[in-house]
Amino acid sequence: MPKKQQNKAKPARARPVHAGPAASLLLAWYDRHRRVLPWRALPGQRPDPYRVWLAEIMLQQTTVAAVGPYYEKFLQRWPTVGALARAKLDDVMHAWAGLGYYRRARLLHACARAVVADHGGQFPSDEAALRALPGIGAYTAAAVTAIAFGRRANVVDGNVERVMARLFAVKKPLTESKRLLRAHAEKLLPASRFGDYAQALMDLGATVCTPGKPRCYLCPLQGACVAFARGIAAALPARAVKKAKPLRQTTAYWLVNQRGEVLLRRRPPEGLLGGMVEVPSAPWRERGEKQPVRLKKNKDGAEKTHAPARTRWKMLAGDVRHSFTHFDLHIRVAVGKIRSSRAGGSIQGFWVKRGAVEDQGLPSVMRKIARHALAASG
Ligand code: SF4
Repeated sequence: MPKKQQNKAKPARARPVHAGPAASLLLAWYDRHRRVLPWRALPGQRPDPYRVWLAEIMLQQTTVAAVGPYYEKFLQRWPTVGALARAKLDDVMHAWAGLGYYRRARLLHACARAVVADHGGQFPSDEAALRALPGIGAYTAAAVTAIAFGRRANVVDGNVERVMARLFAVKKPLTESKRLLRAHAEKLLPASRFGDYAQALMDLGATVCTPGKPRCYLCPLQGACVAFARGIAAALPARAVKKAKPLRQTTAYWLVNQRGEVLLRRRPPEGLLGGMVEVPSAPWRERGEKQPVRLKKNKDGAEKTHAPARTRWKMLAGDVRHSFTHFDLHIRVAVGKIRSSRAGGSIQGFWVKRGAVEDQGLPSVMRKIARHALAASG
């Protein structure tokens, strides 16, 4: 044999991934290693569609650890979809405060009402009917179909995409390969146990085929994994070049009246943090964006136009920083005092005792502003 060929290392080969064996291996692994989660039915138990749906909505863009206490709180307060439908929207928004992506809370409430009004208080078991409900997209509809009703559905979330990208060594970034990964996942679906299979894939992605360094030595699919065989598992899925997040800025106004109460207000129902309680603030503008012509600053630098009352505003040292999915926000905090709670007669909002500000269901960014102001004013 020529020398050149003798030195050439033979690449390891993965056996092609076939639906039957891969699903059986994964289900056997799941039977031994499944995660115990508060919203998950135990083996032999019948899943409750309400609990499955509630957890799936909460888990969107949110970690299992963050969701746990909220899930328990919601379930205690509203144990059925009917109870949630009867709740006041404000109470639901308040209970959701801190979990982020507040549009979900509105849609959660709207969905509960639609289930009661249009489906007699029972979630439909059909994927298309689920998708027609408020706040239920393709992923959630598939997850509820498979997990709550045990029906065939291709449940593809970020974890599953990562597992598929590695199993089939798909080198394109996720943003460009979603359809292909979904098709790979569809090919691997088993003939039964659809709910267990969906949760097994989720568990594999969350505990073994993790981002960064996958723990291939624990993986039931190792023998079929092309990325493992080629030694490129940790490099997949390929990352798309990240764009820098735009920066927005604003000023928040911490206004205190003669009784030591703080002014808060409710944001408009639509848009980011829609319907949530906030510390009054100027519009959030991107750096370099033109300011309105009428915007003037008093000698402390606070913007007069958007301040909730005419008073002497003092700018606190330092700023508050918060990161949203699509932009970062830097907030300066101006502090002012007024003698009367009706100064000027035009104050919009409601007054809250200083010590009770954090009990008002503030979203995280507003809690940071409140803490900054409270720390500065002692
Ligand atoms: Fe993921 Fe490794 Fe399993 Fe492949 S072998 S699916 S890379 S954990």
